[in-house]
Amino acid sequence: MKDILRKYYGIEAIEIKKLVGYDNGNYQIKTREGKYIFKTYKKESDLFDLVKAESDLLAHLSDPGNHQFPKPIKTLNGAYVEKIKIDGDEVVIRLLSFLEGTFFAEAHHTSSLFESFGTFLAEMNLQLQHYKNYTIQARQFEWDIQYATLNAPLIVDITEPENRKIISYFFQQFKELIQPILPKLRKSIIHNDANEWNVLVAGNQISGIIDFGDVVYSPLINELAVAISYAIMEKDDPISWACHIINGYHKILPLETIEVDALYYLIATQLCISVSNSAHNKKLNPDNRYISITEKPAWRLLHNWLLINPIRAKETFRKTVGLSTEKSIPLDEIVGNRHKYIPPIVSLSYSLPIYMNRAAFQYMYDTYGNTFLDAYNNIPHVGHEHPKVIEAGQKQMAILNTNTRYAYDLLNEYAERLLAKFPTKLNKVYFVNSGSAASDLAIRLARHHTGHKNIMVMEHGYHGHTQSGIDISDYKFSNAKGTGQKHYILKAPIPDTHSGKYRDQNAGSKYARDTIDVLNENKNPVAAFITEPILGCAGQVPLAPGYLKNLYPEIRDQGGVCISDEVQTGFGRLGDYFWGYEAQDVIPDIVVLGKPMGNGHPMGAVVTTDDIADSFNQGVEFFSSFGGNPVSCAIGLAVLNVIEEEGLQQNAVVVGNHYKQLLNDLKDDFDCIGDVRGSGLFLGVEIVNKEQNPDTKLAGIIKNELRNRNILIGTDGPFDNVLKSKPPLCFTQADAEKVVQKMSEILKKI
Ligand code: PMP
Repeated sequence: MKDILRKYYGIEAIEIKKLVGYDNGNYQIKTREGKYIFKTYKKESDLFDLVKAESDLLAHLSDPGNHQFPKPIKTLNGAYVEKIKIDGDEVVIRLLSFLEGTFFAEAHHTSSLFESFGTFLAEMNLQLQHYKNYTIQARQFEWDIQYATLNAPLIVDITEPENRKIISYFFQQFKELIQPILPKLRKSIIHNDANEWNVLVAGNQISGIIDFGDVVYSPLINELAVAISYAIMEKDDPISWACHIINGYHKILPLETIEVDALYYLIATQLCISVSNSAHNKKLNPDNRYISITEKPAWRLLHNWLLINPIRAKETFRKTVGLSTEKSIPLDEIVGNRHKYIPPIVSLSYSLPIYMNRAAFQYMYDTYGNTFLDAYNNIPHVGHEHPKVIEAGQKQMAILNTNTRYAYDLLNEYAERLLAKFPTKLNKVYFVNSGSAASDLAIRLARHHTGHKNIMVMEHGYHGHTQSGIDISDYKFSNAKGTGQKHYILKAPIPDTHSGKYRDQNAGSKYARDTIDVLNENKNPVAAFITEPILGCAGQVPLAPGYLKNLYPEIRDQGGVCISDEVQTGFGRLGDYFWGYEAQDVIPDIVVLGKPMGNGHPMGAVVTTDDIADSFNQGVEFFSSFGGNPVSCAIGLAVLNVIEEEGLQQNAVVVGNHYKQLLNDLKDDFDCIGDVRGSGLFLGVEIVNKEQNPDTKLAGIIKNELRNRNILIGTDGPFDNVLKSKPPLCFTQADAEKVVQKMSEILKKI
């Protein structure tokens, strides 16, 4: 190397030190006159031009004030970049002046340092604003945020599925929200890699920047997005630290509103590019420590970024640079407008309703910048806006959406995958669009098959909002405003071991006996017995153990069929069981599915046996316009895939057990908690008064106080005194701890 330096640059190296680098050789050279950086690159076809372009750019940059950029040094042949041969290999070489200073990573971080960082970048960008270089302008580089999606193939190298999904999520948000505005963002040649090991500090100021190897022609705002993404990585309040940089920048080079508004997603996208490349390069070079240097804090920041409402970020960034903020419609106005068209019987949750704007996994974001932890919503089963589900739906919507009167692959594929989750006897499926449509169809099937009309339902049970749904839902027909029990409906006493008649070990068989007595009192046999395995609307009441095992044979002896409504409990929510009936060690004849099936896309289904399907075949054609359409099937498949890939049923076991334990601990501390029940991530907390009677008012207060602390749970039960928690299955132990800690805070206050 000394010979090369002498031959090409006429300098006499007295010390050569190898420095770490991403993908090229980097050496610090000491001579008697000063220090240099010598860079070597393996020859690649377009690299020479690019390295040359970079040197031309450095030659263009002047050093105003005390700012410094590396100066390119020409070889004795007068070139900034040369191709030479070392040991027979062609190598590209260049020499740069060495910049003194402390790395930003090692400097003491203050708000004024961050502001000076913004100022420094703006001053550099001003110098480059009208600079042209066609090699750089033609560059399509995966580290350029505008080409973020070039990195999508690297996602597979991220080993943890819970991390993979975050990258897919932000790449998808990038596609939806940023790509369409890219043409409107002003472009410039930018450094594009102002990371903490490329930026130098002297005193409490940014003094220089090195490594222009990632230089691109990109939206100007990406300069800031990249810089911010690294600078705020280890910060507890990343948004306010970001604001200092933005502020310093805006004073020198005023930002446009559209640029500021894009920052939240651009920063997230940059972090995603960074961690995807770390994962990929770690796989290729497991020993290169430099590659993964920022990986851990980048992941932490990405997880924390999801906690920040994008609207809050946008408004804060706007405020910091004095841009006017968007006026949201006040809550009373949005609610008032809704009531013009939507009757109030379609209720809004919470004393203070929530004006929702967007969501991600277990978080929901309102229009006013608040982030809510969703501990309530079991429809987005695998998480709100799960990228795999969205992608499946969007893609299929662009290809084919039709109905079951045509043959198509997805119907067969989804039916096969879904039925594989059931015992072999349950091998036929009908697709519909809601739990109500499914329970209605289940009753039709039962009546067709048995020729009977009577239906035995569960006390406080709920199965749907259609007329037939209401007729079989005690929760509705027995409500004070309900229309009462139809003559063909029989009602089973709720087999509740907490506050019911029987609470001992044999409660299940005793309750079954009582139910059989109700059956026997009626001279007409039943077509069906329908129940949920854990009664949601009754206040998360699990059926007493052994109840169905004792009851099902009697129903069948009478000629009836047994229906399990798994709309709430299905798809792994209960943790130990994929379907709730498994907990009772029975196999129903008909299973009703809904809510979580499509993660929010309207899907329902009825699964049954060959025999029952054969009977139904004798009747009129069954057709649902939307049920089982290719888009729904693609979405349903994606939901099943995500449950498996992310181990969500297992997560329901681990997090559910932890959550339940914490709630039981809370029960020990507070007398107003009468019972904690449920399974997996389907839990109920019964709130009672001193006399152990239902305390509806207190339950309502707790629910609303939780809402005011940005946690969503609901209440239910005949006295509306049971707090219900049934979060998306990606809920974490930390989330559970947060809910219980807030509950504790509220109860202490009360
Ligand atoms: N069955 C059960 C157990 C339910 O909880 C519900 C909805 N809450 C339904 C059926 C009806 O489903 P949908 O609202 O999709 O019609």
